[in-house]
Amino acid sequence: MSCLWLASVMVLLSARCFAVEEKPFLYSPVSEVPEWRLLEGYQGTLSQEEFKERLQRIFDPKGALGAYLEMNESAVVVFRDREKTQPLFRLRFAEPTSAPRAELAPLALADPTQPLLGKVICLDPGHIGGDWADIEERTFRIGRDRPVVEGELNLQTCRLLAERLSAAGAKVVWTHEGFAPTTEVRPADLYPEAIEYLLQDPGNRRLPRISMNGLIRWNAELLFYRSAEIQARARRVNEELRPDFSLCLHYNAAPWGSPGRASLTSVSRVVLFSHGSYTASELAYDDQKFNLFRKLLENSTPSELAIGGAIGQQFKEKWGVPPENYAGSGYAHASGASPYVWHRNLIANRLFRGPVIFVEGPYMNDRSTYGWIQAGAYEGSRMVAGRDRQNIFREYADRVADGVLQWARTQAGSSRAFTNYSP
Ligand SMILES: [Zn+2]
Repeated sequence: MSCLWLASVMVLLSARCFAVEEKPFLYSPVSEVPEWRLLEGYQGTLSQEEFKERLQRIFDPKGALGAYLEMNESAVVVFRDREKTQPLFRLRFAEPTSAPRAELAPLALADPTQPLLGKVICLDPGHIGGDWADIEERTFRIGRDRPVVEGELNLQTCRLLAERLSAAGAKVVWTHEGFAPTTEVRPADLYPEAIEYLLQDPGNRRLPRISMNGLIRWNAELLFYRSAEIQARARRVNEELRPDFSLCLHYNAAPWGSPGRASLTSVSRVVLFSHGSYTASELAYDDQKFNLFRKLLENSTPSELAIGGAIGQQFKEKWGVPPENYAGSGYAHASGASPYVWHRNLIANRLFRGPVIFVEGPYMNDRSTYGWIQAGAYEGSRMVAGRDRQNIFREYADRVADGVLQWARTQAGSSRAFTNYSP
């Protein structure tokens, strides 16, 4: 078997050697090739000051992109390489003399009974669940209790959330609404890419103590449920659904050990992610640089912070659950807008166009949350960990919905909150 594997590696290696000149350097082998011309519509739309401010505050707080940039007051050029020999894109800045564009004041506030009227909201229940829950590694079971499968909790919560948002006038659309993958690709299709992925960046891959074949399979599965699946959802969002904003909903967890011998903790935190905070190692790749530019120019951040902050406020007031703290993590930084909202570069919020609010709910393996999940979708309220509570799906959906409604009541009726999609 290893001979076969070695042969595949040699084929890939030789292909890489010959193709290196014209091949973009991609973070994930199943990524789409960046199409920089999509950003041409943004030429001359923001000043150098605005560009630098967004870059520093949101996307690149450590200044790692600077190694690939050549900037003067009229334009910035982004290069593939640190030697700055291969230009990827040139962005012309707005004239420094042009007057700052005034924010449009709302003509009328949203209808208070239907504050989401005219809005299209995309729900993205995290993970796939169902038959795929085991390979996604988002399930655990304790003794003879009902297994906790995150993909199923996410979907159950999103269905209740959809009811609330629809009742407030929104058109709700979904990246997926069942336990079937959105992508047509399956792990078995991704073995060549899995080998290439291992070769491309072996230091970055998790290396469990398993055979090389097992490692390749594990990587093929990872590429399936993470890269291919999220990219298929992104295509649906960007090409068909075109929502005003997307809500990616998850339940969080502390590390639970092996799925068969999971352990409980007594800690729960919640967090909301807004896109940003690229790391230096991510910024070495063409697709990451492209997405940073696209997101910076699209300017979805103000909406992400406003909506995320409003949801965080609900978590604080109704649950009293503290926010995560990623200070010093190296991969996320505080937004400054709310202690609950952090900037982080995730596949979904990088690839979905428009504002994406990524919600990480309570810890599934926190002792009281675990009991609350095990109690299921009961009617009315019950005592849970000393508090009178509705079922967890209802409460989580209500926290998110109330935050979105709170935000919407401050918005102009039916006008789009963020500027524009790239073509
Ligand atoms: Zn999740």
